[in-house]
Amino acid sequence: MPEALLADFLAFTLAGEAPAVTAGEAAVGVQWRWLGAGLLALAPAALADDAPRIVLSAGVHGDETAPVELLNVLAQDIAAGKAALQAHLLIVLGNVAAMQAGCRYLDDDLNRLFGGVHLSVPNSTEAGRAAELEACVARFFEAGPGARWHLDLHTAIRPSVFERFALLPQREAAYGADVFAWLGAFGIEAVLMHRTGSATFSHYCSHAHGALACTLELGKVMPFGQNDLSRFAAAASGLRRLIAGAAPADGTTPPRCFDVVGQLDKRSDAFKLLIGDDVANFTPYAQGTPIARDGEQVWTVQHAEERIVFPNAKVKVGLRAGLLVAELPVV
Ligand SMILES: [Zn+2]
Repeated sequence: MPEALLADFLAFTLAGEAPAVTAGEAAVGVQWRWLGAGLLALAPAALADDAPRIVLSAGVHGDETAPVELLNVLAQDIAAGKAALQAHLLIVLGNVAAMQAGCRYLDDDLNRLFGGVHLSVPNSTEAGRAAELEACVARFFEAGPGARWHLDLHTAIRPSVFERFALLPQREAAYGADVFAWLGAFGIEAVLMHRTGSATFSHYCSHAHGALACTLELGKVMPFGQNDLSRFAAAASGLRRLIAGAAPADGTTPPRCFDVVGQLDKRSDAFKLLIGDDVANFTPYAQGTPIARDGEQVWTVQHAEERIVFPNAKVKVGLRAGLLVAELPVV
């Protein structure tokens, strides 16, 4: 049973199985612990408690399959000794029920339920999972004093001017050059700097646990088995360097940085995108361009140029229907 779990954690998880034995040591001296559906901790047997603690998550949106496959291959390679590990690693396959159903979520977007927001929707299928993930990462991070990381891997629904981009949660302290070097090493072309809090998984790990946390958008959604993982090669090799305790590769291009300058909040069913429903992420618009309308409220471009990210008029009333971002000057 443990062999099946380590050989194909994704298949094991999708089958809804629970192992008879929940912890052990793989052939190469890597200790593993199964912590619940889609939750697998890995660490070298002799690793110090103060080694880095890294959470890698994927499938928080159940239909975003490529990063899930990427983490599955990573877990296989660690267990087989083909990928070096010098960290306490927690692999999280986020919304297992939605992954099994082949959809983004069942009742509520899991990535809008963290930081306790799940308490406000107790009957939602996703509420229990959000609570379980919060408890699991809390135990994982609090088990030692090492540097804390959380990288939440996603793929976008729509095409993007920048194929790979990252969202950094709002926090008091500025992000250091090392963060941008790592994002460049993951193949990230653009970074969004959030200026307000949100109920995402990465924001929760940043605020509740002081983790260096980031949401990575690595390409476009495809069904399981139809992903070209070579398009995710930069992210995969960057993650392997990170968990191996190496430095980011030299010679990578640092990402362009964008500030979130506006948020399109859907307040009623009258909400309408005035730029059409199928524009690419990061499409630029000039000052004065009307972007969206909700009854009397109209959002227009305030800066010389702003770009639209995650436009989606179909979200539930009360949720974010898009972000407007402006490029930050290079420092
Ligand atoms: Zn996503």
